[in-house]
Amino acid sequence: MTTMDAGFDVDTVKAEFPVLSQLVHGKTLYYLDNAATTQKPRIVIDTLRTYYEEYNANIHRAVHTLSERATERYEGARGKVRTFLNAASVKEIIFTRNATEGINLVAQTYGRKNFKPDDEILITAMEHHANIVPWQILCEQTGAVLKVVPISDEGEMDFEAFTNLLTSRTKFVSVTHMSNALGTINPIEKMIELAHSYGAPILIDAAQSAYHKKLDVQALDCDFLVFSGHKLYGPTGIGVLYGKEEILRTMPPYQGGGDMILNVTFEKTTYNDLPYKFEAGTPHIAGVIGLGAAIDFLNDLGLERVERYEAGLLAYGTEALKDVPGLTIIGTAPKKASILSFVMDGVHPHDVGTLLDQYGVAVRTGHHCAQPVMDRFCIPATTRASLACYNTEADIDALVVGLKKVSEVFG
Ligand code: PMP
Repeated sequence: MTTMDAGFDVDTVKAEFPVLSQLVHGKTLYYLDNAATTQKPRIVIDTLRTYYEEYNANIHRAVHTLSERATERYEGARGKVRTFLNAASVKEIIFTRNATEGINLVAQTYGRKNFKPDDEILITAMEHHANIVPWQILCEQTGAVLKVVPISDEGEMDFEAFTNLLTSRTKFVSVTHMSNALGTINPIEKMIELAHSYGAPILIDAAQSAYHKKLDVQALDCDFLVFSGHKLYGPTGIGVLYGKEEILRTMPPYQGGGDMILNVTFEKTTYNDLPYKFEAGTPHIAGVIGLGAAIDFLNDLGLERVERYEAGLLAYGTEALKDVPGLTIIGTAPKKASILSFVMDGVHPHDVGTLLDQYGVAVRTGHHCAQPVMDRFCIPATTRASLACYNTEADIDALVVGLKKVSEVFG
């Protein structure tokens, strides 16, 4: 697919991202580290600046004009997130710092309340550390047991193993929608249905998928879903936890203080209604409002169009990498998105990344906070190029040219 077929003008979109127009080491910047964080469009940057220049104030607690304005924008952004995910109510949208905090919140509130020794929590072998470690901590606290669904040589979840590991002991399933290390898209629709058939609630880690694919939490019928603002063209330090209202109501608070309180005495404290019950302390007001602007940006672009465009670019990149001597792609699942993770014969990924940087090509190297994935493939690390809506075939071409140099230098 060329930029002409995208259904949007990629060059115009790219021009909305000021950071992308700079030179790095005197070379055009080719930014291919989007799975780590995406760049920010002007609408997000301007929204943050306007907040600080024109109506910076704490929310919910004052009657003065600036506070009312900030509160209105903050709650307006919650409404945008609700529509973005098609949640039934704004009560189901909790603002967190990031996807990681959303998972920890669920583990420490839902999990600590409900799990007993030998209860099982099911995850997959392709999870980010953020969807492993909170459950390990919870297992230590409660005596619950973590079960892991294996993945194939292509990086696909073993669906048969998933069905076999689901039993009446399974009390919770937590799974990534899209692997950050491999690009694999998991069949979450079927997984949600199966988890529910065993009475197990399921959390979807949408940190990677939320900016590539349209999500609909009601159609999916997932119980929880998390994502981070900074991967969705929004600010850092802001994330979203979606939870079904009837489940959130049963959960104890995560942290105490500020907005999560209705009434406090030394004898007894009562908690605020949803969603505030889970938003203790002054939140990241600018971040929330900035995330709202990022959602406006994505809505204007159309996530379905972005998904189609990036799929074309991924296919182009997958083909183009075949020209690089000694390169093996890690993660070749038939259903994958926007990630090209690979190793090169005889070259450490760190050297690949360092040399590519000299050519203006920004990629990530390392274990991508998914060490068990690296262990599965018996490698210490990969080089990962990851795509976003503003990438073009020129970015891929620059990557390939750079990789051929790497192969010449180290080959
Ligand atoms: N899950 C996945 C699949 C991710 O890719 C990431 C970020 N790399 C996270 C969770 C954690 O996101 P954050 O660091 O923004 O909390």
